[in-house]
Amino acid sequence: MVAENLKAVEEKISAACQRAGRRREDVTLVAVSKTKPESMIEEAYGTGQRDFGENKVQELIRKRELLPEDIRWHLIGHLQTNKVRAVVDKACLIHSVDSLHLAEAISKEAAKKGCTISILVEVNVAGEDTKFGTAPEDTIDLVESIAALPNLKIKGLMTIAPFVDNPEKNRPIFSRLKQLSVDIAAKNINNVSMCVLSMGMTNDYEVAIEEGSTMIRVGTGIFGERDYTVKQ
Ligand SMILES: *Cc1c(COP(=O)(O)O)cnc(C)c1O
Repeated sequence: MVAENLKAVEEKISAACQRAGRRREDVTLVAVSKTKPESMIEEAYGTGQRDFGENKVQELIRKRELLPEDIRWHLIGHLQTNKVRAVVDKACLIHSVDSLHLAEAISKEAAKKGCTISILVEVNVAGEDTKFGTAPEDTIDLVESIAALPNLKIKGLMTIAPFVDNPEKNRPIFSRLKQLSVDIAAKNINNVSMCVLSMGMTNDYEVAIEEGSTMIRVGTGIFGERDYTVKQ
């Protein structure tokens, strides 16, 4: 099932890239495997998929130990400072940095481990109370503060758009994040690149690609509905 779903998602990604006049290789598909068993990840891996996303530190670490070493693990969920130490050198990219406090904790742990960590700054574009992320108008200041920290590299921005019945409703959210990244890139801040724009999920990734996403995070569309009543 996973292989078939991946194929269908792949076709939609290609079509969206074509509509937008973009190259397929400019969009990375992160397969969001949270709550899903290793066997399903192995099936996706077998088709060549290498980027996987998890939203919980413990789950990422557990799966990483059990699965092939060349998997790139993305931490996409909210990160608490007390979990930073455990995950800092395990994830290839932390998508969800939304405060200077958290960035400082990551920088400090990275320095201890002698590595440099790639991060994205999460922006709450829609201003939903239930979501993490910095306000759009505060993003440039936050990026500038984080950029001054050692052992850390800002690669771009991330947003979680609202759940909507019609993905077209999220188009303005995606275009606003894109514009924000263009504005920040134009400032040429030391230690900051805006090459990653992590936006688009199962429900809306085609629209996100049309608006410039370079990294889509697709869970349900690949692995099926999640069942949170099953104990992990
Ligand atoms: C769960 C999750 C996704 C994937 O959501 P789907 O709708 O299942 O594709 C993407 N991004 C984040 C941050 C998530 O927590």
